[in-house]
Amino acid sequence: MKLIFEQGSPEQHMTLLPECDVPVVKLKETRQVPLRLPHVCENELTRHYTALAKRVHGVNDGFYPLGSCTMKYNPKINEDMAALPGFTQVHPTQGEGTVQGCLEAMYTAEKYLCEITGMDGVTLQPAAGAQGEFTGLLLIKAYHTHRKDLARKKIIVPDSAHGTNPASAVMAGFTVINIPSASDGCVDLDALRAAVGPDTAGLMLTNPNTVGIFDKNILEITQIVHDAGGLCYYDGANLNAVMGVVRPGDMGFDVIHLNLHKTFSTPHGGGGPGSGAVGCKALLKEFLPGPAVAEKNGRYAFYTPKHSIGRMKNFYGNFSVVVRAMTYMMTLGKENIPEAARNAVLNANYMMARLTDTYDMAYGGYCMHEFVMTLARLHDETGVSAMDIAKGLLDNGIHPPTMYFPLIVHEALMVEPTETESKETMDHACDVFLKLYEEAKSNPQALHDAPVCTPVRRLDEVGAARNPVLRYSF
Ligand SMILES: *Cc1c(COP(=O)(O)O)cnc(C)c1O
Repeated sequence: MKLIFEQGSPEQHMTLLPECDVPVVKLKETRQVPLRLPHVCENELTRHYTALAKRVHGVNDGFYPLGSCTMKYNPKINEDMAALPGFTQVHPTQGEGTVQGCLEAMYTAEKYLCEITGMDGVTLQPAAGAQGEFTGLLLIKAYHTHRKDLARKKIIVPDSAHGTNPASAVMAGFTVINIPSASDGCVDLDALRAAVGPDTAGLMLTNPNTVGIFDKNILEITQIVHDAGGLCYYDGANLNAVMGVVRPGDMGFDVIHLNLHKTFSTPHGGGGPGSGAVGCKALLKEFLPGPAVAEKNGRYAFYTPKHSIGRMKNFYGNFSVVVRAMTYMMTLGKENIPEAARNAVLNANYMMARLTDTYDMAYGGYCMHEFVMTLARLHDETGVSAMDIAKGLLDNGIHPPTMYFPLIVHEALMVEPTETESKETMDHACDVFLKLYEEAKSNPQALHDAPVCTPVRRLDEVGAARNPVLRYSF
């Protein structure tokens, strides 16, 4: 396929911008060569993007059970609301009095998120989950620093954590202490007790964790950390299994980030925009980033908390993502948010039950919103890897699950169907999984060769990561 720069000719063009209705200011010409823009007409531009769209697989194309990513269907009403002129035709430097509706939307979203998480304050500024983690850790740091408890420099992270957790902790200036998981996939309590001390700043935990298990000792875990003087951070990127059912604030957590672009149904993938909203208990509220929104007698205004850690992003975060999330929460309401969570758990358990006689599950028992299979035995017996099965799924119109994550499971495939898939879709996916397993035994070479039906065959992923080509040479 040709790049847009390789199409068209200098004679072709179209007019995208309306006529200028403000005085024209001429900038000093500093450019040595003319700007190299594509020269295509409107129909060619449309065809180009349609052709690109046909070569990818999104939630609107088919099943997308990418664990830890919650690729759920994004209701179109969210888009309608985010596109309302009152939300799109405003400028971030406009006076507060002229954007009361936008402020009310932010305030409402903050209030709902506090309610769902059991927290006392929320910031909508972080642009992604990882930036939310960084923000939350800076809150923990500000708390200890404010109390002159300066020895607390260590963050405890279980080995099943999402890779962003230790990375964020290091970025925030902490030392990471890794603790192993017990054989049931939960936190090893003895290891945790041995790790905490007067240098503990806090614990970062994903729950349900990255193997899809709700830690049975959750209250004891937060107690151990609190007794040692540390704070508890909840990675709530994937709140899908528990939203509206149990609240991290009630489990003893002091700070949490949520990925509004996962659980709260904003389209995501391909780099954004996202929202990693951060919630915290009252003891951390005065450190939250500013500006935040306050309400007084029906009027909304920005304010910056007293000991704020400062801004995490320009202006107010990705506002339109917040509008989508708010729409989602309002359309579902307090009755249906827990219903969505229950269906997410039911769907994951349904698929796991259908596959469990054939595929090895990494952990026994019920799962939450996702489950992890280990294909180590299949690999030993047939040479067919988790990667090969994933490529075989692509030939059947199914996006692969998350592969080789979490790192503690060999030949891992992590499946998250989400609550928005029908039984028919899941049955079809299970049939494909079972068919591929048979194929691994009868004709492994076919799976080594997969995919054969996709726009491109198997890619050199290591080469792409090690020697990325980031520049187009004309
Ligand atoms: C997705 C995810 C993150 C990171 O979120 P980004 O928006 O990609 O930065 C962190 N933790 C968990 C458990 C996640 O699934």
